[in-house]
Amino acid sequence: MTEAFAELFGRSPEGVWHAPGRVNLIGEHTDYNDGFVLPFALPQGVSVTAARRDDGVVEVASRQAGGGIVRASVDGGTVDSEGWPPDRAWAAYPVGVARVLREHGTGGASLLIDSDLPQGAGLSSSAALECATALALCDLHGVEIERAELARLVQRAENEQVGVPCGLMDQAASLLCTAGHALMLDCRSGLSSKVPFATADAGLTLLVVDTRANRNLATGGYGQRRAECEKAAAKLGVAALRDVTDLAGALGSLRDPVLRRRVQHVVTENHRVEATVGLLRAGAVAELGAMLNASHMSLRDQFEISWPEADAAVDAALRAGARGGRMVGGGFGGSVIVLTATDRAARVRDGIAATYAKRGWPPPAFLEAAPSPGARRSA
Ligand code: ADP
Ligand code: MG
Repeated sequence: MTEAFAELFGRSPEGVWHAPGRVNLIGEHTDYNDGFVLPFALPQGVSVTAARRDDGVVEVASRQAGGGIVRASVDGGTVDSEGWPPDRAWAAYPVGVARVLREHGTGGASLLIDSDLPQGAGLSSSAALECATALALCDLHGVEIERAELARLVQRAENEQVGVPCGLMDQAASLLCTAGHALMLDCRSGLSSKVPFATADAGLTLLVVDTRANRNLATGGYGQRRAECEKAAAKLGVAALRDVTDLAGALGSLRDPVLRRRVQHVVTENHRVEATVGLLRAGAVAELGAMLNASHMSLRDQFEISWPEADAAVDAALRAGARGGRMVGGGFGGSVIVLTATDRAARVRDGIAATYAKRGWPPPAFLEAAPSPGARRSA
């Protein structure tokens, strides 16, 4: 990357910063209900090779995007007379970070981006890109920002500069996760704690299965679920569904069966996150399978956001002897995670692939997800 950087920008880079993607082990559709999530960092991520600039210009290029170098001022306004055509829209992520961090003392830079993380697959390539950029800018300009605070700032960049109303999970996971651990995040307070999650030590493998089902329905379905949760919270007189302590009472007082199902999912999912943390702290990693299965059934039957390829992948994995699995992400398409004994992983993959072949679906893609270190300077 040093040579590619020199060729593009006409000078040498000063360093390389890496930030990982993430998988959320459990805690689905709990974030906007002020609840709990439990992500861990992936080995895959985004690397930013960078050098400082002192003229307030941030110039970015990505090996995964065409369109060459995009130049912008950190002060806002676009230096490039071409503006932001669609094939350069990705640059809003790193430039947005530079603009937000500028208020905290960083400045311009030349940035070359490279990644081994699939984009738009629910593995949070956007936060990886933002967090690697943020670390590079802080280090290059000698600015120290505590990581929990940095996660908030980077989230703000995605919200305000890119216009994506994401929660805090992706940025917190990328910046705060450590190897062999998951991160329990309280989405209300923003407080987080590390939970041991050493799959390999327990003889276990966590597979991410890209079901290759498109997510055209995702946006509408997601917004609808959010609205239903807000409506249920209002009817129950609580600030968020996180505050429901008496599930039976809440279900008894709601007339609408749809809202009852949504509440049932969110409340029990928060308990499953806490139960999972308890199991992990006790070293009972293999028992997580039951939590994943319960989460999947709840997402399928109560929250009603699963899709045929996800259900088939979970069923096939269990038939092949996996400990458990569940759909992840917004729903209606995307990925499934499966926890299996490592010596059964090949059989589980084959079982899922065979099911897809039999149904005439495109073959699923597999990725092994080992709990990995968070964002760092890598060279
Ligand atoms: P996810 O975060 O789940 O991967 P998003 O839609 O939130 O999906 O973010 C994907 C977007 O992030 C891409 O469309 C692109 O704009 C940007 N992005 C991610 N990785 C890169 C990269 N290596 N180069 C350029 N842009 C990237
Ligand atoms: Mg994203």
